[in-house]
Amino acid sequence: MEGAIIPLQSGRLKDPVLAQFSIDAVADMIIWLDQDGRYVFVNKATTQLLGYSSEELTTRTVCDMDPDVDAARWSAHWDELGRLGSVMLETTNRAKDGTVIPVEVRATMVTYRGVKYNCAIVRDITERRRAEAERRALTERIRQMSMTDGLTGVANRRCFDERLAAYVEEADAMGRPLSLIMLDVDHFKSFNDRYGHLAGDDCLRRVAGAVEDTLRPAGGLAARYGGEEFACILPGVDGVEALRWAQRVRGALHALAIPHEGAPAGYVTASMGLASARPSFPLKTPGPWTVALVAAADACLYRAKSEGRDRIVAGGGR
Ligand code: GH3
Ligand code: MG
Ligand code: MG
Repeated sequence: MEGAIIPLQSGRLKDPVLAQFSIDAVADMIIWLDQDGRYVFVNKATTQLLGYSSEELTTRTVCDMDPDVDAARWSAHWDELGRLGSVMLETTNRAKDGTVIPVEVRATMVTYRGVKYNCAIVRDITERRRAEAERRALTERIRQMSMTDGLTGVANRRCFDERLAAYVEEADAMGRPLSLIMLDVDHFKSFNDRYGHLAGDDCLRRVAGAVEDTLRPAGGLAARYGGEEFACILPGVDGVEALRWAQRVRGALHALAIPHEGAPAGYVTASMGLASARPSFPLKTPGPWTVALVAAADACLYRAKSEGRDRIVAGGGR
């Protein structure tokens, strides 16, 4: 048995041996520290979890064991304990083998034979932390999945809507321009009819990849808007510059040269509608702004289709 004997305060069994047995039988660490942060008592769980014998621990202070605690922090903790009587906190302890163990501490200030001690129940929360990290990673994965188009891997419509609203708000606040490209693959129905739906899926993947890669240096977002239609947001980009980006996308699709015998060019092309806007300052409500921008780009896309496809029509916005 290690450390002091604490007589039972209540209960019918006033048995000091039982009390000590309980102290060493519990899975949590029980640690007594004096005002200088020195270890004066530890139970068996402490020696097992930290890998030090109780003799080794009596030569140490909390600052040696807790990488986050220094003399100033310990002193502040002692003062707080004096004020509040009891404190709960999370910190870490470094075990003898170097492992840093996350712990939850419930510290109580007790007076024993006229001397004040920090009496703490210290729980190893490694497993809780691991579970939390796993849950966070899972939540992040679900969030990612909810924002990604399953077929092409680019952002999906939900992500587009969210980000467009955010970009518009930002453009409004900073008085910066914003451009939008709506892109629709030409004669795609006949591509499916001719080469099959799976080849159509593959074509969409390659188109999405080319659009995203080409526009990556511009920042912003390339998203699948639906079907064979993509929408790209170019924050901070005005109409003149946006036209250059759209031309690069058109060039990238030509370079892909996905064979399409049913298309006039003999390969897959796309039509694009381009809308740009420079917000007025101060801030305006983002709702109508986003709608107007999409509608303007859409109208241009419609014109690009009717004027012969494989082209860019710019204009609109405000
Ligand atoms: P236009 O040049 O006027 O755009 O003609 P289009 O044939 O591309 O347009 P239309 O709207 O007539 O056809 C679009 C086709 O896109 C029809 C639909 O089956 C196909 N499509 C939509 N989503 C997918 C998909 O996820 N995979 C495949 N393979 N095809 C898709
Ligand atoms: Mg379409
Ligand atoms: Mg189409």
